[in-house]
Amino acid sequence: MFAIAIDGPAGAGKSSVAKALAKALGFAYVDTGALYRAIALFMIENQVDLTDPEAVSARLPQVEVGLEYGPEGQRTLLAGRDVSQDIRTQEVSMAASRWVAHIPRVRAFLLDLQRDLARRADVVMDGRDIGTVILPGAQLKVFLTASAEERARRRTLQLDAAGEAADFDQVLREVAQRDRQDAAQLEAVPPDAVRLDATELSFEQVVEKILELARARMDGAGGKG
Ligand code: C5P
Repeated sequence: MFAIAIDGPAGAGKSSVAKALAKALGFAYVDTGALYRAIALFMIENQVDLTDPEAVSARLPQVEVGLEYGPEGQRTLLAGRDVSQDIRTQEVSMAASRWVAHIPRVRAFLLDLQRDLARRADVVMDGRDIGTVILPGAQLKVFLTASAEERARRRTLQLDAAGEAADFDQVLREVAQRDRQDAAQLEAVPPDAVRLDATELSFEQVVEKILELARARMDGAGGKG
């Protein structure tokens, strides 16, 4: 199996880039942030105190989270219910980033699930700790960054496009807050990762650069699979 790990801060474009790469290479795209978000949603819906790691951990055995792949890409399921949209709210983002992702038992709970996905298919997996913890043997690791201002600018455009009123300064503050909350995972840049700063690059340029790297490694590995 061939695995591409894409790590980096929120808003650097990881998921759009990973999706495009997976499509071009015929790999499965795994958005691991969706798993943390789904757990956060479960805890919110069940009124579990997110600030209490013991309470959250105790409920984990009841969380049936899964990812499904179809023509429209990844769908996130919670006990069979499609929550792909519900996990995208600001409330869930903050709950995942601020509380859920910091609980060691949550990370352990998701470890096998993520590794198992990469055992079954060639994958492009994006997240925060993919190259360091989840798939340390990934054939290609990319750490994708962009300045906080650029990430906030893109997020503001996305929110505008989705019809949600967005104030750039407010979005920038949220980007900075997510960076602080994710710092523990983000500081662990895989030593063998290719660092790519997307601030001055177009989306197509980023995808093209990673495709070149992937193809070179696949040739070096004697082809994929
Ligand atoms: O990538 P996304 O913004 O959807 O992830 C939501 C939150 O889940 C992140 O802010 C981060 O705190 C956490 N996360 C993580 N490890 C991953 C993916 C996401 O800790 N591999």
